[in-house]
Amino acid sequence: MDELGQITEHLLRFSPDGLIVVDDQGIIRFANETTYELFGYEPTTLIGRNMEVLVPERLRTRHAEHVANFLVKPSKRAMGARVAALAARRADGSEFSAGIRLAPFHINGKLYVAAAIRDITERQRINEALIAAREEADRANRAKSRFLATASHDLRQPLQTIRLLNAAMFKIVKTDEMRGLLSQQQHAIDTMTRLLNALLDISRLESGAIEPKPVPVSIMELFEELEAEFSAAARARGLVLEFDPAPAVICTDRTLFYQLLQNLIGNALKYTDRGTVNVACVSDADGVIVSVTDTGIGIPADKLERIFDEYYQVDTHGAKRVGVGLGLAIVREVARILGISVNVSSQVGQGTQVRVVIPPKSVLSATAPPQAEDEEHVRVTNNATTRLILVEDNESVRAATELFLKLEGYEVQSAGSVAEAEPFFAKLRPGDVVIADHHLDEKRTGLDMLIELRQRFGYTVPGIILSGDLPSVLRSMRSAVPACVFLGKPVDTDALVQTIEELANASRREHGGSVEQLARSQAS
Ligand code: ADP
Repeated sequence: MDELGQITEHLLRFSPDGLIVVDDQGIIRFANETTYELFGYEPTTLIGRNMEVLVPERLRTRHAEHVANFLVKPSKRAMGARVAALAARRADGSEFSAGIRLAPFHINGKLYVAAAIRDITERQRINEALIAAREEADRANRAKSRFLATASHDLRQPLQTIRLLNAAMFKIVKTDEMRGLLSQQQHAIDTMTRLLNALLDISRLESGAIEPKPVPVSIMELFEELEAEFSAAARARGLVLEFDPAPAVICTDRTLFYQLLQNLIGNALKYTDRGTVNVACVSDADGVIVSVTDTGIGIPADKLERIFDEYYQVDTHGAKRVGVGLGLAIVREVARILGISVNVSSQVGQGTQVRVVIPPKSVLSATAPPQAEDEEHVRVTNNATTRLILVEDNESVRAATELFLKLEGYEVQSAGSVAEAEPFFAKLRPGDVVIADHHLDEKRTGLDMLIELRQRFGYTVPGIILSGDLPSVLRSMRSAVPACVFLGKPVDTDALVQTIEELANASRREHGGSVEQLARSQAS
């Protein structure tokens, strides 16, 4: 045998894989030394036998069919193609999981198939363990998300009470020292509220509890709302906040998309000390692109990847930390759910640009006519004693809300259930505002109760519905309800008072006179 022949023989004998060659009848023509380690057969005892001996008995019929198919069209299977894990049988009857590669070839027009066989039992065991570990981690993650969602939701009621009591005490105490303490307390409550809201959002998004509800969304309108929300904050920080809208209409979940932009604009304002925050919209072949560009501190290139991770915050070298590190994790989850992409580019010391790309399939129109402007919101003052009917089943929240509203100068009638509120409803008059928790009892929501009152009294009774889970409530509604405002718990006390005033005044205007006149006309 020449040198190359000997080398080849050695390679074949000691190959880490078991090597077998069978002919077109399935008879083993060659087996290397390794087949002994794998199957427990001396190679010489295998030669001349049908390869069936290497297949567990229970699988032989199926195996024979596979072989027949393969022999009919061997060329269809690429050379060296891997056959998925198969069960193989050892001489002692035990089985192992085999990874097999097949290579058909011809000698003098006759078909042979070479098979390289490897015991992959260990590899499979590791794979299975990895899959099990992955499933366990996913399960634990979902359980964590569910726990967080429940815990943060349940923490809202007591936080609501504390917030209202803090606002009530502000009204009562007169000394500067006490007021200083109360404003520190208020600051802590604000921080806690922000954290709780972010935790609830992220856990609900991650646990898959949120089903997006796509509707046509006008970018113009959205920008107007965002401008109304953020312009005061920008002014307070001495920043210019610009909006360059485009008349585009996209199909997306309005609440979630708004929340995504809120987080991006909030960050741009937080991490910019001087200059401009620009929010723009353009349409091109990629779809509709909304960009938020700031002239702020920027993000180092090596941190860009990580800023979307939960609780990750770039070390901002002395910049005041105001967030909790969840804003961009929420953006990431919302973008995933809505099928839009978010890209960040940034230069340290120069600024950051975040581009939100809404793909063409979600673009309804890139050039819709601008929508009519909303009626201007005017801050109205409390010029008559407004009567409020409060229906809230949580006793401490009810007591704190009542105390706060009374200190604000309202006449408040409060009840723990719809039945308890009945005597107050019996004397309901235009100008009164009903404030109710959304989850009242098993049968009725606060909104159901309001609608029943409207039917019963034949006019649009103004209402405020409070909910610990505002996004879900808003999403579950098919259309807006006139003269009904939904506020999230823990409620912002200023927003509550402002809403009461607006609703009460609108109700009075609608009925063409003051409450007193109305009451008189009703009495007569
Ligand atoms: P945080 O609550 O800390 O703002 P986010 O998840 O929203 O958390 O952002 C993560 C981190 O990314 C922030 O802590 C900040 O370091 C960085 N970052 C986000 N947006 C900007 C921006 N516009 N400019 C500079 N840094 C930013």
